[in-house]
Amino acid sequence: MISFNFRRAYPDNTPHPPHGLWFAMNDKGVLVTRHEGETVLPYGETALPNLLRPEHTLLLGYLDDTPCFACYIADETLPSATRQFGLRDLYGRVPEAQHAIAGYASQLLLWQRSSNYCSVCGQALVQIAGEWGKRCLSCKRDVYPPVNPCTITLIHDGDRALLTHKAGWGNRYGLVAGFVEPGESLEDCLRREAAEEVGANVADITYFSSQPWPYPHQLMLGFFARYTSGTGQIDQNELDEARWTTRDEINAGVVGIPPKLSIARQLIDHWLTHAV
Ligand SMILES: [Zn+2]
Repeated sequence: MISFNFRRAYPDNTPHPPHGLWFAMNDKGVLVTRHEGETVLPYGETALPNLLRPEHTLLLGYLDDTPCFACYIADETLPSATRQFGLRDLYGRVPEAQHAIAGYASQLLLWQRSSNYCSVCGQALVQIAGEWGKRCLSCKRDVYPPVNPCTITLIHDGDRALLTHKAGWGNRYGLVAGFVEPGESLEDCLRREAAEEVGANVADITYFSSQPWPYPHQLMLGFFARYTSGTGQIDQNELDEARWTTRDEINAGVVGIPPKLSIARQLIDHWLTHAV
Protein backbone atom coordinates (compact mmCIF):
# COMPACT_ATOMS: atom_id res chain seq x y z
CA MET A 1 0.00 0.00 0.00
CA ILE A 2 1.50 3.31 -1.03
CA SER A 3 0.34 6.85 -0.47
CA PHE A 4 1.38 9.88 -2.41
CA ASN A 5 0.29 13.44 -2.97
CA PHE A 6 -1.84 13.33 -6.10
CA ARG A 7 -4.58 15.89 -6.77
CA ARG A 8 -6.96 14.70 -9.45
CA ALA A 9 -8.11 16.82 -12.36
CA TYR A 10 -11.29 16.42 -14.39
CA PRO A 11 -12.22 17.53 -17.90
CA ASP A 12 -13.09 21.21 -18.15
CA ASN A 13 -12.52 24.10 -20.48
CA THR A 14 -9.42 25.57 -18.86
CA PRO A 15 -6.21 25.26 -20.90
CA HIS A 16 -3.80 22.51 -19.90
CA PRO A 17 -0.59 23.53 -18.10
CA PRO A 18 2.31 23.92 -20.55
CA HIS A 19 4.65 21.27 -19.10
CA GLY A 20 4.23 17.99 -17.35
CA LEU A 21 5.01 14.34 -16.90
CA TRP A 22 3.78 12.15 -19.76
CA PHE A 23 2.10 8.80 -19.32
CA ALA A 24 2.16 7.96 -23.02
CA MET A 25 1.10 4.45 -23.93
CA ASN A 26 -0.58 2.07 -26.28
CA ASP A 27 -1.29 -1.66 -26.17
CA LYS A 28 2.44 -2.38 -26.19
CA GLY A 29 3.16 -0.48 -23.01
CA VAL A 30 4.21 2.77 -21.39
CA LEU A 31 6.77 4.97 -23.13
CA VAL A 32 9.98 5.70 -21.21
CA THR A 33 13.19 7.42 -22.12
CA ARG A 34 16.69 7.79 -20.59
CA HIS A 35 17.96 10.69 -18.57
CA GLU A 36 21.44 10.64 -17.01
CA GLY A 37 21.47 6.86 -17.27
CA GLU A 38 18.10 6.40 -15.57
CA THR A 39 14.82 5.13 -17.00
CA VAL A 40 12.36 8.01 -16.71
CA LEU A 41 8.96 8.99 -17.98
CA PRO A 42 9.11 11.78 -20.57
CA TYR A 43 8.80 15.26 -19.13
CA GLY A 44 8.22 18.49 -20.98
CA GLU A 45 5.96 20.44 -23.22
CA THR A 46 4.97 17.39 -25.19
CA ALA A 47 6.38 13.92 -24.85
CA LEU A 48 7.19 13.27 -28.48
CA PRO A 49 5.23 15.54 -30.79
CA ASN A 50 5.29 13.24 -33.80
CA LEU A 51 3.85 10.33 -31.81
CA LEU A 52 1.09 12.07 -29.94
CA ARG A 53 -2.50 12.54 -30.84
CA PRO A 54 -3.17 15.79 -29.00
CA GLU A 55 -6.94 15.33 -29.14
CA HIS A 56 -6.47 12.25 -26.95
CA THR A 57 -4.35 13.96 -24.30
CA LEU A 58 -5.91 13.91 -20.84
CA LEU A 59 -4.82 15.97 -17.85
CA LEU A 60 -4.99 13.40 -15.04
CA GLY A 61 -3.97 15.65 -12.17
CA TYR A 62 -0.95 16.85 -10.24
CA LEU A 63 1.68 14.68 -8.57
CA ASP A 64 2.86 17.08 -5.89
CA ASP A 65 2.76 20.12 -8.18
CA THR A 66 3.73 18.38 -11.42
CA PRO A 67 1.00 18.13 -14.06
CA CYS A 68 0.48 14.55 -15.26
CA PHE A 69 -0.80 13.90 -18.78
CA ALA A 70 -2.04 10.68 -20.32
CA CYS A 71 -2.03 10.17 -24.05
CA TYR A 72 -2.42 7.32 -26.45
CA ILE A 73 0.54 7.07 -28.78
CA ALA A 74 0.38 6.21 -32.43
CA ASP A 75 1.58 2.75 -33.31
CA GLU A 76 4.65 3.91 -35.18
CA THR A 77 8.34 3.25 -34.93
CA LEU A 78 9.57 4.78 -31.71
CA PRO A 79 12.67 6.98 -31.54
CA SER A 80 15.77 5.04 -30.56
CA ALA A 81 16.05 6.88 -27.25
CA THR A 82 12.75 5.45 -26.08
CA ARG A 83 11.41 2.09 -24.94
CA GLN A 84 8.08 0.69 -23.87
CA PHE A 85 7.34 -1.38 -20.81
CA GLY A 86 4.10 -3.12 -19.99
CA LEU A 87 2.52 -1.83 -16.78
CA ARG A 88 3.70 -4.81 -14.75
CA ASP A 89 7.24 -4.53 -16.08
CA LEU A 90 7.31 -0.80 -15.39
CA TYR A 91 7.06 -1.56 -11.67
CA GLY A 92 10.41 -0.94 -9.99
CA ARG A 93 11.75 1.07 -12.93
CA VAL A 94 10.07 4.37 -12.02
CA PRO A 95 9.01 5.74 -8.61
CA GLU A 96 6.08 3.84 -7.12
CA ALA A 97 3.78 6.87 -7.27
CA GLN A 98 4.44 7.24 -11.00
CA HIS A 99 3.75 3.55 -11.52
CA ALA A 100 0.42 3.92 -9.72
CA ILE A 101 -0.52 6.92 -11.87
CA ALA A 102 0.44 4.95 -14.99
CA GLY A 103 -2.21 2.42 -13.95
CA TYR A 104 -4.77 5.19 -13.56
CA ALA A 105 -3.74 6.58 -16.97
CA SER A 106 -4.22 3.20 -18.64
CA GLN A 107 -7.72 2.89 -17.19
CA LEU A 108 -8.79 6.35 -18.31
CA LEU A 109 -7.29 5.96 -21.78
CA LEU A 110 -9.12 2.66 -22.20
CA TRP A 111 -12.30 4.33 -20.98
CA GLN A 112 -11.92 7.20 -23.46
CA ARG A 113 -11.45 4.77 -26.33
CA SER A 114 -14.24 2.38 -25.36
CA SER A 115 -17.02 4.79 -24.36
CA ASN A 116 -17.81 6.66 -27.54
CA TYR A 117 -21.35 5.37 -28.05
CA CYS A 118 -24.36 4.56 -25.91
CA SER A 119 -24.66 0.79 -25.45
CA VAL A 120 -28.49 1.06 -25.41
CA CYS A 121 -29.34 3.30 -28.36
CA GLY A 122 -26.04 3.74 -30.20
CA GLN A 123 -25.99 7.54 -30.05
CA ALA A 124 -22.64 9.28 -29.55
CA LEU A 125 -21.91 10.00 -25.88
CA VAL A 126 -20.88 13.48 -24.74
CA GLN A 127 -18.40 14.34 -22.00
CA ILE A 128 -19.95 15.51 -18.73
CA ALA A 129 -18.16 18.66 -17.59
CA GLY A 130 -16.16 18.31 -14.41
CA GLU A 131 -16.03 14.50 -14.29
CA TRP A 132 -14.93 11.52 -16.39
CA GLY A 133 -18.51 10.35 -16.93
CA LYS A 134 -20.29 10.59 -20.28
CA ARG A 135 -23.94 11.14 -21.13
CA CYS A 136 -26.31 9.89 -23.78
CA LEU A 137 -28.46 12.87 -24.67
CA SER A 138 -31.00 10.57 -26.30
CA CYS A 139 -31.79 8.18 -23.44
CA LYS A 140 -30.41 10.39 -20.65
CA ARG A 141 -28.10 7.67 -19.38
CA ASP A 142 -24.86 8.58 -17.65
CA VAL A 143 -21.96 6.12 -17.73
CA TYR A 144 -18.69 6.15 -15.82
CA PRO A 145 -15.27 4.50 -16.00
CA PRO A 146 -15.71 0.94 -14.71
CA VAL A 147 -14.16 -0.32 -11.49
CA ASN A 148 -14.67 -4.02 -10.75
CA PRO A 149 -14.17 -5.05 -7.11
CA CYS A 150 -12.47 -8.39 -6.42
CA THR A 151 -11.69 -10.04 -3.11
CA ILE A 152 -8.36 -11.72 -2.54
CA THR A 153 -7.88 -13.75 0.61
CA LEU A 154 -5.07 -15.37 2.51
CA ILE A 155 -6.74 -18.37 4.17
CA HIS A 156 -4.74 -19.44 7.21
CA ASP A 157 -4.80 -22.34 9.65
CA GLY A 158 -2.24 -21.91 12.39
CA ASP A 159 1.16 -21.88 10.78
CA ARG A 160 -0.18 -22.81 7.34
CA ALA A 161 -1.53 -20.67 4.51
CA LEU A 162 -3.55 -21.98 1.58
CA LEU A 163 -1.88 -21.07 -1.72
CA THR A 164 -3.38 -21.63 -5.13
CA HIS A 165 -1.88 -22.52 -8.47
CA LYS A 166 -3.11 -22.21 -12.03
CA ALA A 167 -1.88 -24.10 -15.05
CA GLY A 168 1.04 -22.29 -16.64
CA TRP A 169 2.18 -20.49 -13.49
CA GLY A 170 5.36 -22.54 -13.10
CA ASN A 171 6.52 -22.46 -9.48
CA ARG A 172 4.53 -19.32 -8.65
CA TYR A 173 1.56 -19.64 -6.32
CA GLY A 174 -1.20 -17.16 -5.53
CA LEU A 175 -4.22 -16.70 -3.28
CA VAL A 176 -7.94 -17.34 -3.58
CA ALA A 177 -9.46 -14.44 -5.49
CA GLY A 178 -12.52 -13.56 -7.49
CA PHE A 179 -14.90 -10.91 -8.73
CA VAL A 180 -17.70 -9.59 -6.54
CA GLU A 181 -21.00 -10.54 -8.10
CA PRO A 182 -24.19 -8.45 -8.08
CA GLY A 183 -25.99 -8.71 -4.76
CA GLU A 184 -22.93 -9.81 -2.79
CA SER A 185 -21.16 -8.18 0.09
CA LEU A 186 -17.37 -8.46 0.12
CA GLU A 187 -17.66 -11.11 2.85
CA ASP A 188 -20.23 -13.07 0.80
CA CYS A 189 -17.87 -12.98 -2.17
CA LEU A 190 -14.88 -14.09 -0.12
CA ARG A 191 -16.79 -17.01 1.45
CA ARG A 192 -18.18 -18.09 -1.95
CA GLU A 193 -14.79 -17.96 -3.65
CA ALA A 194 -13.16 -19.94 -0.82
CA ALA A 195 -15.85 -22.62 -1.08
CA GLU A 196 -15.90 -22.73 -4.90
CA GLU A 197 -12.17 -22.50 -5.61
CA VAL A 198 -10.63 -24.57 -2.82
CA GLY A 199 -13.54 -26.21 -0.97
CA ALA A 200 -12.81 -24.26 2.22
CA ASN A 201 -15.13 -22.80 4.82
CA VAL A 202 -13.72 -19.77 6.63
CA ALA A 203 -14.38 -17.53 9.63
CA ASP A 204 -12.78 -14.57 11.41
CA ILE A 205 -12.57 -12.46 8.26
CA THR A 206 -10.38 -9.38 8.67
CA TYR A 207 -9.73 -6.64 6.14
CA PHE A 208 -6.13 -5.88 5.18
CA SER A 209 -6.00 -3.22 2.44
CA SER A 210 -6.99 -2.49 -1.14
CA GLN A 211 -5.16 -1.90 -4.39
CA PRO A 212 -6.19 -0.64 -7.83
CA TRP A 213 -5.33 -3.36 -10.33
CA PRO A 214 -5.50 -1.84 -13.79
CA TYR A 215 -5.59 -5.10 -15.81
CA PRO A 216 -7.91 -3.69 -17.00
CA HIS A 217 -9.92 -2.12 -14.19
CA GLN A 218 -10.17 -4.18 -11.01
CA LEU A 219 -10.05 -2.99 -7.43
CA MET A 220 -8.48 -5.71 -5.28
CA LEU A 221 -9.68 -5.91 -1.68
CA GLY A 222 -7.36 -7.98 0.49
CA PHE A 223 -8.50 -10.05 3.48
CA PHE A 224 -7.32 -12.65 5.93
CA ALA A 225 -9.68 -15.47 6.90
CA ARG A 226 -9.30 -18.46 9.20
CA TYR A 227 -9.94 -21.92 7.79
CA THR A 228 -12.57 -23.87 9.71
CA SER A 229 -13.48 -26.89 7.60
CA GLY A 230 -13.94 -28.12 4.07
CA THR A 231 -13.33 -30.81 1.52
CA GLY A 232 -10.33 -29.20 -0.17
CA GLN A 233 -11.95 -29.95 -3.53
CA ILE A 234 -10.53 -27.43 -6.02
CA ASP A 235 -12.38 -25.89 -8.95
CA GLN A 236 -10.53 -27.56 -11.80
CA ASN A 237 -11.76 -24.96 -14.27
CA GLU A 238 -9.75 -22.33 -12.40
CA LEU A 239 -6.95 -24.12 -10.56
CA ASP A 240 -4.75 -27.16 -10.91
CA GLU A 241 -3.60 -27.19 -7.28
CA ALA A 242 -4.23 -25.75 -3.84
CA ARG A 243 -1.50 -26.25 -1.30
CA TRP A 244 -1.14 -25.72 2.43
CA THR A 245 2.24 -24.09 2.94
CA THR A 246 4.08 -23.19 6.13
CA ARG A 247 5.94 -19.98 6.84
CA ASP A 248 9.21 -21.92 6.83
CA GLU A 249 8.49 -23.33 3.38
CA ILE A 250 7.79 -19.89 1.98
CA ASN A 251 10.85 -18.38 3.65
CA ALA A 252 12.97 -21.25 2.30
CA GLY A 253 11.69 -20.61 -1.23
CA VAL A 254 10.07 -24.04 -1.54
CA VAL A 255 7.16 -22.38 -3.32
CA GLY A 256 7.30 -19.27 -5.46
CA ILE A 257 5.14 -16.35 -4.35
CA PRO A 258 3.66 -13.43 -6.32
CA PRO A 259 5.75 -10.36 -7.27
CA LYS A 260 6.04 -7.41 -4.87
CA LEU A 261 3.74 -5.36 -7.05
CA SER A 262 0.69 -7.38 -6.01
CA ILE A 263 -1.54 -7.23 -2.97
CA ALA A 264 -1.28 -11.04 -2.88
CA ARG A 265 2.40 -10.63 -2.05
CA GLN A 266 1.67 -7.93 0.52
CA LEU A 267 -0.82 -10.25 2.25
CA ILE A 268 1.74 -13.06 2.30
CA ASP A 269 4.55 -10.79 3.52
CA HIS A 270 2.33 -9.49 6.32
CA TRP A 271 1.30 -13.01 7.35
CA LEU A 272 4.96 -14.15 7.44
CA THR A 273 5.76 -11.66 10.18
CA HIS A 274 2.46 -11.13 12.02
CA ALA A 275 -0.18 -13.13 13.82
CA VAL A 276 -3.43 -12.51 11.93
ZN1 LIG B 1 -28.64 6.10 -25.44
